[in-house]
Amino acid sequence: MKKIILGLLLISLAFMFTGCAPQDNKKNEADVLIVGGGGAGLVAAIEAAKTGKKVILVEKMPALGGNTIISATGITASDTIYHQESGISFTKEDHYQRTMTTSKNLANGDLVRILVDESASAVLWLKELGVNLKVRSEAEPFWLVPVEGHYGAQLVAAYIQEANKYSNLEIRLNTKANKLIVENGVVVGAEVTDNDGTYNISSKAVVLATGGLNNNPEMIAYYNAKYANIHTQMTTPGATGDGITMALEVNAELVDMEFFQVRPLSSNGNWYHERIISTEDLSGILINKEGVRFTNETAAPRTVASEILKQSDALAYIIFDQRVYDAHADAKKAFTIGRGEKADTLAALAALIGVDAATLEATVTSYNEGEDAFNRTALGKVIEGPFYAVKTLPSNHYTMGGLKVNELAQVINKSGQVIPGLYAAGEVMGGLYGDGRVAGNNTLDDIVFGKIAGFNAAQ
Ligand SMILES: Cc1cc2nc3c(=O)[nH]c(=O)nc-3n(C[C@H](O)[C@H](O)[C@H](O)COP(=O)(O)OP(=O)(O)OC[C@H]3O[C@@H](n4cnc5c(N)ncnc54)[C@H](O)[C@@H]3O)c2cc1C
Repeated sequence: MKKIILGLLLISLAFMFTGCAPQDNKKNEADVLIVGGGGAGLVAAIEAAKTGKKVILVEKMPALGGNTIISATGITASDTIYHQESGISFTKEDHYQRTMTTSKNLANGDLVRILVDESASAVLWLKELGVNLKVRSEAEPFWLVPVEGHYGAQLVAAYIQEANKYSNLEIRLNTKANKLIVENGVVVGAEVTDNDGTYNISSKAVVLATGGLNNNPEMIAYYNAKYANIHTQMTTPGATGDGITMALEVNAELVDMEFFQVRPLSSNGNWYHERIISTEDLSGILINKEGVRFTNETAAPRTVASEILKQSDALAYIIFDQRVYDAHADAKKAFTIGRGEKADTLAALAALIGVDAATLEATVTSYNEGEDAFNRTALGKVIEGPFYAVKTLPSNHYTMGGLKVNELAQVINKSGQVIPGLYAAGEVMGGLYGDGRVAGNNTLDDIVFGKIAGFNAAQ
């Protein structure tokens, strides 16, 4: 159902976009070429167009939005109007420290400082575009969430509406950038393919805003073998790492490529909090298709994910009881969205998921008796029927690493020098997150570095 709703959303946004400047394939020249029409690309395009320069944005999918449109919660920002209004404090320094600590101090502090310093004005700009937010709670003062409606959909609709104001900004859908064109060491455009064929767009600068690797499991496995066989439940189709591939061909440097935020408990476009399998007493277990436990469910999410990926068909079943269902909203969410199974007995549950009943019963009995070969830090119990089973397909949520950039969003090469004419913003860019991201910083970085890239590319 969620995918159908998103599909309809994408189609309606595609129609909404028809008010933009008409496509004119004869004029394949621009001052700035933007590759990718998610949040970062749209923001970069708007910012470049503001300067009056001719801008072309190419998006390989039939609609704009990328993963930005499925951004589910909100934005992280500090010292904003909403913090002032609510009296709930989240300062720039809090923001900086939280971002650096979450990255395990691997993030580039200079880039993080820019992100943090610009966050309040990014939020103000969103307000100008009609995206109204509020502080989520005192417990989570960093989160600004929409006053109403779906966050990502509102963002993309607002960006498209703004982009439509610029007649010097042309957006070409169904147009995939294949490779960068370099002349005398300067990036001067890209080769693209649309429904009619392949041609070159020449430009004075190119902004890569192609998103992450989330829909390219082979590439994820190449950069981190622990995530071989990762599923793609939590992404739109365009996030295949094209910007990384294209930039590597012009000798770009990458940073932090081994780091991904993976979700062990995930299906049908959603993820479920690991507390379903890690809370003392009130949690369930993971079993593989053979009906046996295989890991410490209370380990770090990424470890649990990589252990599931080693099992048959790279999947597991979350098994929990009625008490866990009642205790955790995410258990209910997993059961509903993950189209789980429910039965009064473990044997009946086993039959529903095609697992040997005696094996599942033995697994649960020994676990309930406290036998745990995997050293869980918190033991749950699976004792009170009805019992639940939800299939989980660990998926990538965010690509932490990416292209090395400087404070002007210029892409840096393997010798530490700027690649003239090449800029990057959004999830394709590395340096902001190291080994961990603060959720909500990502649609923020789309705005902050999208603006920086768009503006500088237009100079
Ligand atoms: C389920 C989910 C929920 C999330 N929730 C939040 C949240 O609440 N808050 C938050 O801050 N972040 C959230 N994120 C992260 C956030 O959505 C992304 O990090 C961010 O939107 C990425 O923006 P982007 O513009 O870099 O990439 P995208 O939005 O993915 O856009 C990239 C675009 O480039 C296009 N493209 C790729 N290759 C080419 C090519 N060769 N030629 C032309 N076009 C190309 C793609 O088709 C795509 O449209 C969430 C992510 C997921 C998966």
